[in-house]
Amino acid sequence: MRVAIAGGGLAGLTCAKYLVDAGHTPIVLESRDVLGGLVAAWKDEEGDWYETGLHAFFGAYPNMLQLMKELGIEDRLQWKQHTLIFNQPEKPGTYSRFDVPDIPAPFNVIASIVNNNDMLTWEQKIRFAIGLLPAIVRGQKYVEDMDKYSFSEWLQRQGVGERVSSDVFIAACKALTFINPEEVSSTILLTALNRFLQERYGSKIAFLDGSPTERLCQPIVDYFTERGGEVRMNAPLKQIVLNEDGTVKHFLIRGLEGAADEILTADIYVSAMSVDVMKVLTPEPWKQMDLFKKLEGLEGVPVINLHLWFDRKFTDIDQLLFSRSDLLSVYADMSITCKAYEDPDRSMLELVLAPAKDWIDKSDEEIIAATMKELERLFPQHLCGENPVKLRKSKVVKTPRSVYTASPGRQAYRPTQETPIANFFLAGSYTLQRYLGSMEGAVLSGKMAAEAISRQSIGSVSTPKDLQTVA
Ligand SMILES: Cc1cc2nc3c(=O)[nH]c(=O)nc-3n(C[C@H](O)[C@H](O)[C@H](O)COP(=O)(O)OP(=O)(O)OC[C@H]3O[C@@H](n4cnc5c(N)ncnc54)[C@H](O)[C@@H]3O)c2cc1C
Repeated sequence: MRVAIAGGGLAGLTCAKYLVDAGHTPIVLESRDVLGGLVAAWKDEEGDWYETGLHAFFGAYPNMLQLMKELGIEDRLQWKQHTLIFNQPEKPGTYSRFDVPDIPAPFNVIASIVNNNDMLTWEQKIRFAIGLLPAIVRGQKYVEDMDKYSFSEWLQRQGVGERVSSDVFIAACKALTFINPEEVSSTILLTALNRFLQERYGSKIAFLDGSPTERLCQPIVDYFTERGGEVRMNAPLKQIVLNEDGTVKHFLIRGLEGAADEILTADIYVSAMSVDVMKVLTPEPWKQMDLFKKLEGLEGVPVINLHLWFDRKFTDIDQLLFSRSDLLSVYADMSITCKAYEDPDRSMLELVLAPAKDWIDKSDEEIIAATMKELERLFPQHLCGENPVKLRKSKVVKTPRSVYTASPGRQAYRPTQETPIANFFLAGSYTLQRYLGSMEGAVLSGKMAAEAISRQSIGSVSTPKDLQTVA
């Protein structure tokens, strides 16, 4: 079957990969001139990469790891030491670490918490462990039920002190969702914690060895184009045109630079665009259907990704860092953590600014100035004084609507990949799957959409064994 997929992010590309495995012919339409959507990256005039987002991969990403294995590119993940590292703004220049020993889960994570005395008191550790018991005992059902509470509310209900929330979990919430604990659904943090507590290497972090566009997206495209699929860049979907019975008649592609619009006809159609774009392109007759009505309850969250190139090296940590700053979320010295960005003499910090709602409309200069001020607080010994490290150049990438805003109650609004329209499917990290708004979620959603399409066509085409999602 010919399957037209709008959206060349990880969800759309993964969907195409698994469709060719099942014997179908995918045609991916990407509106921009770059692959990857939220993982897209570009080179500046000096040949240095800059990205939509600083991306960390986790051991608890089974579908991403399987995909990379199937593509023969799993060696492109640079696995780091199994540890989570936090800045200590109250003791500038020092870090607090949760070192996870190589023993079975959940004892490895428990040991890392027990051994950290900078950020949690014994009383807080015990209260938090007791608070987590229902999630461990009652599993995912409990985790889903807690979607009605913000993470702050959940902590309060478990009797966990304010400081636990203010210290460790602000950093975790900002890293996972780009919002603060009082705004984020407790399901998000509990899901992540559950994965980390159940899998020995679940919280182990890896960085890709180069830009995601080149090192991850391109191999997926090579895979499905070598097997009969197609990708078309600069091909924005303009309209989903319907038959009288409400099914899709064709996709209308907007003609760019004066070219005429173009009709793309297929057997099956997939939207792998962000939820914000899908809402705008939902055909009028579909808007009364529950599944499409639900999309109105979802909206992308703003986030900003910053790149700062310095004239000297001033960190030596080969890992993702949690800044614990109001302005910033996670960051990394990419001159150390990422092979293709390596520089033995000069640091390049890539940082996520979140929550970004008050910053997204500010100028790049204002954003950089505020970030540098914050870094001076974290690294006074390097950025202040007589011979401070100097900023050589910078790049700001703003995404006003990124992954869906994971506020309480959102789980009920996330649509399945199958829709009431027989020849139309959804993919995207916002759709319902267990891995939230992440790269793993995008990959899993694309795979689930391909599975649903193959199920529908059973009889004409067989479903291969390797098209099974990994729990
Ligand atoms: C700053 C930042 C940091 C992040 N950090 C992490 C991390 O560390 N770990 C992690 O797992 N995840 C992280 N994420 C989340 C992750 O990047 C996303 O969840 C994932 O990439 C989403 O993929 P997607 O395919 O669902 O959607 P998208 O990437 O949004 O893809 C949608 C695609 O549709 C295209 N499109 C839009 N309109 C049209 C149209 N009309 N016609 C055709 N195409 C169209 C877009 O151009 C885009 O390519 C981060 C995201 C950001 C922004």
